[in-house]
Amino acid sequence: MPTIDVADLLHRFAGEPAPTIYAVDERAVGSCSYKDTLCPAYPHHSVLTCSPEKITTKNQKDTWMYSITHHGAVTGVTGSCHQFTLDSGEAILVDCGMFQGGDAAELSAGSGELAEQINFDIRPIKALLVTHCHIDHVGRIPYLLAAGFKGPIYATRATAMLLPLVLEDALKVGVTRDQRLIDRFLRLFNKQLVAIDYDAWFAIPALPGVRARFRVAGHILGSAFIELDVNSSTGKESSSKKSKKRENKRVLFSGDLGAPYSPLLPAPKSPYRCDDLVIESTYGDRLHEGRKDRRRALQKMIERSLRDGGTVLIPAFSIGRTQELLYELEGIIHQARKRKGKAAHQWQHLNIIVDSPLAADFTRHYRELKSLWDAEARARLAQGRHPLAFEQLTTIDSHHEHLAMVRHLQQTGQPAVVIAASGMCAGGRIQNYLEALLPDSRTDVLFVGYQAQGTPGRDIQKYGPRGGYVFLGGHKVEIRAGVHTISGYSAHADQKDLVNFVKRMRVKPGRIRIVHGDDEAKAELQRWYRVLVPACDVVIP
Ligand SMILES: [Zn+2]
Ligand SMILES: [Zn+2]
Repeated sequence: MPTIDVADLLHRFAGEPAPTIYAVDERAVGSCSYKDTLCPAYPHHSVLTCSPEKITTKNQKDTWMYSITHHGAVTGVTGSCHQFTLDSGEAILVDCGMFQGGDAAELSAGSGELAEQINFDIRPIKALLVTHCHIDHVGRIPYLLAAGFKGPIYATRATAMLLPLVLEDALKVGVTRDQRLIDRFLRLFNKQLVAIDYDAWFAIPALPGVRARFRVAGHILGSAFIELDVNSSTGKESSSKKSKKRENKRVLFSGDLGAPYSPLLPAPKSPYRCDDLVIESTYGDRLHEGRKDRRRALQKMIERSLRDGGTVLIPAFSIGRTQELLYELEGIIHQARKRKGKAAHQWQHLNIIVDSPLAADFTRHYRELKSLWDAEARARLAQGRHPLAFEQLTTIDSHHEHLAMVRHLQQTGQPAVVIAASGMCAGGRIQNYLEALLPDSRTDVLFVGYQAQGTPGRDIQKYGPRGGYVFLGGHKVEIRAGVHTISGYSAHADQKDLVNFVKRMRVKPGRIRIVHGDDEAKAELQRWYRVLVPACDVVIP
């Protein structure tokens, strides 16, 4: 079927020529550094003694009444888009994300088409369910609408609140700066958007016999894993009298699962039961550092950086990561009040600057939706603390203020911590800070997230410590700043968490499909699942 460019569609409404296409912002992923050799399924096994090849898998008879296909997140971690199709033909999509970085390049090269386009038949698709508002899960929604999708778009209340902000930003960065066109799209989109409470079953009218439920995923605000209950009488065998005996299949789409000890949000709880699981595997081959170690490393690194004055620059994604960092910094400042000494004094007077209108918007929503915070974060509130709006926090909104702050820090060398997007230094306001401050030896750059190959962030990480240079916006910038990396800040479950998610289900799945990960991560997770549930059919699509 023909694919339509979203800018084209928007302009068809307005009768105007198509605009310039801008570069697309990159995805949000964390990083971590070490592997464990213990088998999380059976701790007395080691990686070396577990041999999944010897485990025979029972071949499931094809009694699923539906099929699952994927339009992304099978060869890498981006472009999440899974299609659930009943045997009777009606289908829904779970997520409709953008391909990014290496995944996008590979796809474009392979197909000769724009990676962002919808290259599948959307006629059977009656509804879209969204797990969370990261761009690699929602970025193709404008294209889906452009291709003619008119069905409902279901999301949790928080996700429904955040989605228009995310899509508006994505359109501005990647498609058009024309606010009238963007407003037109958002009006269409808001008509289709349906907000749903966590834990409440809801029917999908065009798919009788299928109901769905959002459960807390603990990844970013509003994130959910999705359970689908499929009544067998909806399948094509419904005409046969035998099928009158009701048999429900429970299908689970994990979306992105959070890490249990991440700041602010509660950990996901395993469901009681699941028959068919589609699960992410971003960190299927790694384990994260502990919470305390991470925070101590962050504190030490900032203290060391501030000894000679100057700015500490933290490139961070606006959604999730910025709020986690603020939460951690508030914790460190609070502790410093109880201590004496130079470092403690400095923390109490340190300026923390968030320079990103989108991050500021998100932080406001994070503050409003306190009911979704975890117990620890709510305990801080009960003590009269404000984890995301503390005294020393300055938020910068306008571009004018932004440029003034860059100049001010460049001229004065005054100690400050600046958090700005994008997380991999490819675009966004962090670029102006880097251009101005990288040549100053008092500056320190602190990476807390994954830096993908080919991004300026990766170049700074690689060449910075050797006094090299980086190209930013076409200019060669010398790096005299200190460059540091802290691993362990990740919004994703690690290997142990992904294994435990299945281990803690009372009724274990008969089939697991592993998506959203690099090849090694998927393969290693497949090994664990085969050990954990030998009867399960563990597939890497
Ligand atoms: Zn995500
Ligand atoms: Zn994701």
